[in-house]
Amino acid sequence: PAGKIGFVGLGNMGGSMAGNLAAAGFDVVAFDLSAASVARAVAAGCAPAESLEDIAECRHVVTMLPSSPHVSGAVDALLGGGFGGEGSMWIDSSTIDPLTSRELRERLAAKGIAKLDAPVSGGVKGAAAGTLTFMVGSTEAELGQARPLLEAMGANVIHCGTSGAGQSTKLCNNLAMGIQMVGVSEALNLGEKLGLDPKVLASVMNTSTSRCWSSDSYNPHPAVLEAVPATNNYDGGFGVSLMLKDLKLATSAAEAVGSSTPLGNATKELYSMTVDHGMGGKDFGVVLQMLRGNRIE
Ligand code: NAD
Repeated sequence: PAGKIGFVGLGNMGGSMAGNLAAAGFDVVAFDLSAASVARAVAAGCAPAESLEDIAECRHVVTMLPSSPHVSGAVDALLGGGFGGEGSMWIDSSTIDPLTSRELRERLAAKGIAKLDAPVSGGVKGAAAGTLTFMVGSTEAELGQARPLLEAMGANVIHCGTSGAGQSTKLCNNLAMGIQMVGVSEALNLGEKLGLDPKVLASVMNTSTSRCWSSDSYNPHPAVLEAVPATNNYDGGFGVSLMLKDLKLATSAAEAVGSSTPLGNATKELYSMTVDHGMGGKDFGVVLQMLRGNRIE
């Protein structure tokens, strides 16, 4: 797409995504409340924005913000700043509530702005490598317009259905992932107490029937893999508070449609306890330490 791309939210995920857009040759203007995050995006080839209003002149805007209120607030500020006009488009890659996502689409549509929900999976490594999976809720034509941008940041772009379907898909994925992380953590803790070497146990799990992403690519035990949050004091990954947000969204969506989530509810409690133990900002694999009664600072 021609014109400037505004990128809002340069955290663990958005910082790398904005850098990949710039590396692909797009003219990216980047904004975050944190000046240090803006400086990192500038080093990766983006132009800095002083405020959200500076982003309003862009034809395409991508948001990668923590949760629904942040995205709604950004929509307010950009519309207030005059965002809109022929061919303008908003791509929201944050994980937010599907209902808020649909409401925002209607508000933007009233101003002639197309809006896609395009949340991602693949973690901070996928964001850095440009191999994310995008789960898109939009029309085919809107996806066609957004595709070059999404392909600069990801390896898989999957059209999940109309508006909100991308967010619904993401919530189902993270419901399963959150539960799997707790399952892997319980098994590794038990193994250690039974005297097993966690690395050997993990290598068996990863060639056996309990294999999953939380065990083979993002193992929560610091002795198993290199270059994962568990070996970095659980910093720089997917925050416990973000996982808790996603489980709240998934279980309340389940309640609304009468779908049973007993493990989702139990898992939500465990991440909530992890937040109460002061570890909300740590990567969600830290639930393994919470189960042991450890507190990681
Ligand atoms: P993060 O907390 O690392 O980054 C969020 C960024 O948004 C921060 O830099 C913060 O300063 C900025 N911000 C907050 N309010 C703002 C505002 N009003 N204007 C501008 N900037 C603002 O979060 P993250 O891990 O990058 O996750 C972002 C989204 O992606 C979340 O919805 C999360 O659930 C989702 N997600 C994360 C991962 C992961 O592995 N970290 C994976 C898939 C999806």
